Amino acid sequence: MAKKCVYCNSAIADDSVVDVCEKCGIMVWGEKMFKAIKDSMNNARNKGDLFQGSVCETAMDGGYRDIIK
Ligand SMILES: [Zn+2]
Repeated sequence: MAKKCVYCNSAIADDSVVDVCEKCGIMVWGEKMFKAIKDSMNNARNKGDLFQGSVCETAMDGGYRDIIK
C-alpha cells in the first residue's frame, strides 16, 4: 500500500517516518523542524518504540515539539 501525503496527496516513500511529503513537511514545520522530527522518528523506529498509526496524529498535534526542544 503506497503512502500518501496527508496534505497534498502526493506519493511518499513507504518507509517514510512521517505521513507528509518533503514539501508539505517543510511548509508545516519549517525545514529545520521537519528534519528534526524525521531524525527523532528515525531514532525512535531504530529503537523499536515507534507507535505505528499514532505517529502522524502526534506530530500533527505538535507533540513532537516537546521532544525536539
Ligand atoms: Zn505534500
